[in-house]
Amino acid sequence: MVLSAGEIGFVREADRWAVSEISNQSTGYCPDIGSWSEVARALDDVGLERPSGFTHEVVFRRCSGCQEHNIVREDDFVCVFCGSDLPETWNVDPIA
Ligand SMILES: [Zn+2]
Repeated sequence: MVLSAGEIGFVREADRWAVSEISNQSTGYCPDIGSWSEVARALDDVGLERPSGFTHEVVFRRCSGCQEHNIVREDDFVCVFCGSDLPETWNVDPIA
């Protein structure tokens, strides 16, 4: 089971590596921004310094009308493909 996905950048600080940028921007997995807790735990487990959350958050939703994946911009929860309203809660997981 994939708990999160996205992009990550590292920076060298003194004698160690740290996370400089991190996002949930994965158009394959379309993870919820709530997956940060799993990401934080994984980074903590390997001892990497990290930000307190995603430095770039992407809000993904699946349209219940046409089933297309959408990126929600500026809190406009409307499908760009068919105009249907998108749900307030994340719903991209194919198991759900
Ligand atoms: Zn739609």
